Order: sequence, then C-alpha cells, then structure tokens
Amino acid sequence: MVVLAVHGGAGGDGPWRGMTDADPQRIACMQTLLTDLGAQLASGELTATEAVTLAVETMEDEPLFNAGKGSVLDEHCEVSMDASIMRGSDQAAGAVIGMKSTRHPVRAANRLLVRGWPVMLTGSAADRFAKQEGLEQVDLPWLKTDLRLAQWSKWKNHRLRPGATDEEDALLDHDGDDDGWGTVGAVAMDTDGNLAAATSTGGMTGKPVGRVGDTGIIGAGTWADNTIAVSCTGVGEAFIRTAAAHSMAVHHQTLSLIQAAERVLEDVKPFEGRGGLIALNAQGEVVMPFQTMLMYRGVYQGGETQVGIGPEFIQS
Ligand code: ASP
Repeated sequence: MVVLAVHGGAGGDGPWRGMTDADPQRIACMQTLLTDLGAQLASGELTATEAVTLAVETMEDEPLFNAGKGSVLDEHCEVSMDASIMRGSDQAAGAVIGMKSTRHPVRAANRLLVRGWPVMLTGSAADRFAKQEGLEQVDLPWLKTDLRLAQWSKWKNHRLRPGATDEEDALLDHDGDDDGWGTVGAVAMDTDGNLAAATSTGGMTGKPVGRVGDTGIIGAGTWADNTIAVSCTGVGEAFIRTAAAHSMAVHHQTLSLIQAAERVLEDVKPFEGRGGLIALNAQGEVVMPFQTMLMYRGVYQGGETQVGIGPEFIQS
C-alpha cells in the first residue's frame, strides 16, 4: 500500500466561507499531482523521498501557493524561502533557509539529504550550493506575483507599526480578508514501506528580514522516522517552540495518530500558534487536522485521490 498526502497551508478564522475564485486552480494542482505521483509511487517508480520532493516542487511552481514562485513578501517586499525534507528509514535530512534565487528550494534540501552533510544551509550559501548542484536559478521579479504585491501593500497600509518585529505584525498566509494561499508540504509511503516528509514556504507576509520559521527546521515543521512522517503549517514560532513535528512522533508512541495530532495542535495554542498538519504512520494511516478556517489538503490512497479546503473533502 502506498500513500501520498499534501497540504497547501492553513489560515483564517471562523467558519469556512466556501471556495474563492482562485480555489479551483489550487484544487486542480493538488488533484493532478496526487493522481500522477500517486500512480508512480504505486508502481514502484518513485521512492517516498522522491515523491514528496516532486509533490512539493509542483506546488512551489503553482503561484497561488506560498512557496517558490508566488511566495509571500517580507517587510522589505522581498522573497526569502525556507524548505526541509526528511527520509524516515535513516532520518537523513536536508534543510535550506532564506533562499532568494532558487526556483525549487525543496530540491536543494533534497540534494543536501542525498549528500549527507551538512544538513542545513542558509542564505546566499544555500543558493550557491543549489547553483553548484545545477538547480535552476531565478530572479526576484520572477518569484514575485501581482497577487503577493497586493497582499503586501495591504499589510503595509493596515498592519505595519514602525520598527515592529513581532509576529502580530506578520500575517499568516490565508489570514485577513484576502484570498489566501499557503505553505506547502507532503508526506509519503512507498512500496517498500519507507516514509518521507517535506515542507516549503515563503513564510509570513511582512516577516522581518532574516526571520526563520518552522518550515526549514527539522523537528519543527518537518519530521520523518520509521514510524511516522509529518509536515506542519501555521504560525512558525509556536511550532518551533513546541518542536511540533517531532513531538507528533513522540505523542504517537502512546496515542493514536489523530489523538497525537490533536495534542500537537493543542500544544501550540498557548504560544499563539495555530495551523494544521498532515501525518502518515507506518501502517498507512493518514490524518490532516487543522484549527484554522481552512487547510488546503489532499491524499492519494488505495488508488483514489481526495482533496479538501474546509472541514469536508470536496465531492468530485
Ligand atoms: N509555518 C510557516 C512559517 O512560519 C508559515 C505557514 O505555514 O503558513 O514560516
């Protein structure tokens, strides 16, 4: 049995208000990649590690998600991207922080995982490594979209307190009245029963320059071992402070998968955290809980693909 699950970020408050005009494009992106990569996983063509990398790369290329092209903009109206990946069988990992010119940050993280050392690279060194690895380089205008500029202007006009660097001033993607777009992540199990997880983001709109969220941190935004694979989304600071993705693995030693996931989301609350996660265990169970208005998400399992935004999966 193989499984592939993805998320496209969580956010918003109150009851889900239904699909926006842009949602069909996000749904189509998830549906297509789950069906295609799911079939390749099922035929044994892809390892779990390669499947999560390809899934996240596809979502990095979709400008409506907050990763790669279409990443949200920081306080200086620039893009800086974080990503991480982990392989369950041997806990090999790769992570990149603050990338500015690499089209697919998750592929750079994957290359670090494959090389084995170091686990983590930051800033221009991460982009330089990616370039040396032959990964495609792009410029800021290519990464920036009109939609993100509009979102940033709104943040700048309404939310910015001069000199503020706290997280109240940094909008979680999908928050506010804006149509939302989110951080992306994937978990998978391949025909050998191996697990993997990957996550990629542009962070939060208006984030201070140099701010690092949970997405690029192994154990916070991403975790995989031989029992579980986890990818988180939400207010990164709270997920870092609770080592959320790793604590999911620890909780699952004594709790069911859904109980463990709900516990992780409870744990982030006292730290002003909220969001969601996707998790998959070695038995092939998947959970995708969230405590926000929505979380873009989908799963390929047993040859079938399901996607959702609000509380229920969308009936196709
Ligand atoms: N966790 C991401 C961060 O804090 C944001 C998100 O998931 O939307 O950078």
